[in-house]
Amino acid sequence: LKENNAKHFWQPMSHPADSLANLPTIITEAHGVRITDIDGHETVDAVGGLWNVNLGFSCQPVKDAIAAQLHRLPFYSTFRGTTNDAAVELSWMLRNFFGPDGMARCFYTSGGSDSVEVALRLARQYHKIRGEGGRTKYLSLKKGYHGTHTLGASVNGNANFRTQYEPLMPGCFHIPAPYAYRNPFNESDPEKLVQLCLAALEDEIGFQGADTIAAFIMEPILGAGGVIVPHESFMPGVRSICDKYRILLIADEVVCGFGRTGDWSGSRHWGVKPDMMCIAKAITNGYFPFGAVMIGEALAETFEDDTSGRGAIGSGYTYSGHPVGAAAAIACLKETERLSVKDNAAARGTQLFEGLLELARHHTLIGDVRGGHGLMCALELVSDRGNKTPIGKQTSALVSKTAYENGVMIRVSGNNIILSPSLIIEESDIDKILSSLDAGLSAAA
Ligand code: PMP
Repeated sequence: LKENNAKHFWQPMSHPADSLANLPTIITEAHGVRITDIDGHETVDAVGGLWNVNLGFSCQPVKDAIAAQLHRLPFYSTFRGTTNDAAVELSWMLRNFFGPDGMARCFYTSGGSDSVEVALRLARQYHKIRGEGGRTKYLSLKKGYHGTHTLGASVNGNANFRTQYEPLMPGCFHIPAPYAYRNPFNESDPEKLVQLCLAALEDEIGFQGADTIAAFIMEPILGAGGVIVPHESFMPGVRSICDKYRILLIADEVVCGFGRTGDWSGSRHWGVKPDMMCIAKAITNGYFPFGAVMIGEALAETFEDDTSGRGAIGSGYTYSGHPVGAAAAIACLKETERLSVKDNAAARGTQLFEGLLELARHHTLIGDVRGGHGLMCALELVSDRGNKTPIGKQTSALVSKTAYENGVMIRVSGNNIILSPSLIIEESDIDKILSSLDAGLSAAA
């Protein structure tokens, strides 16, 4: 297996010749928050699958729901007049779950990248129905991540995810993110930084012309870009600018949704109602590929009331509303609410964040600690705190390898260590994550 992995398997987001950070990364078993590799080494998974396994790996009600659905109705499409009962039941549950965010309807996809693609397409379609077909451009944040489809790649803030595929979709513009540790304004005060970023947004809108812009897409807390936590005034500020210029606000909740931030959605955490929400990942907790776009009330009504013929949805996937995925999502949603995982995410998130701040007191490799809002945290590692030089690949590999040997799987992304364990994680396992990081950082110092 190890040889096949090295020779025949190209892994996402890595060079074909990489064997990830020298780790024996073939995972063969997982239970609760623990994973076991091919050599029998068991670790606490501080990555939470890929920030999707919110309920851990042993969620029996989900497994039972999947098995029952497989026996009863393994597949029927939701295209052109047919649908399936599991998908219908789920749409009602999702509408209730995201009702406080102003959501009214859902459109099913097979994952996060699809959800972004559909939401961006629906934004253009919405403006066309309203006779504003000139609104075709998209705005997003530098450091933002929105998946790998061509529209998503076009709005991705990290140039590494764009440049190999250019030319991508024209008309996509990226605004500085409220990233206090590094930003073009050299502003470290989070509140002042918000004002500068919002001013940059207004400038870009003025430059492009408001009536050419369809939507602004953002993650409420930026995940893959290194857990960039905006000041609480940022997303409300974006909301009011979008309202002013009638630009749709799309919240990419693929990571933030379902309790990770300590609230049921990242938007709700900041007190904002977006026009659409992209959801995936924890919707099925890793048990089945699935996603959805939640559509706000005003938008849904515009499509429903359309008599021009432009309101017919031209997006859709063979597996939109897959009954097994829907059954998994129903069971996940019930468990998510029954266990109120957002509360544990908030409590354990605080424990983790405070522990990381403590580590930063004696590890000079740590340039910045980010988190404090649920179970999304990051350490940004630098070789020199003064000039913030990012550490090299070998140093980060040594941190992760040592942490792994000490019983914890962490995720390295550039010079960031990202921590996003399952939301059911216990206090003692957070302690274990912290002690293994301590060991990793000491080894790399
Ligand atoms: N949006 C965000 C915010 C994400 O973090 C991701 C994946 N990490 C995606 C979209 C894409 O989701 P998927 O990998 O399920 O296509």
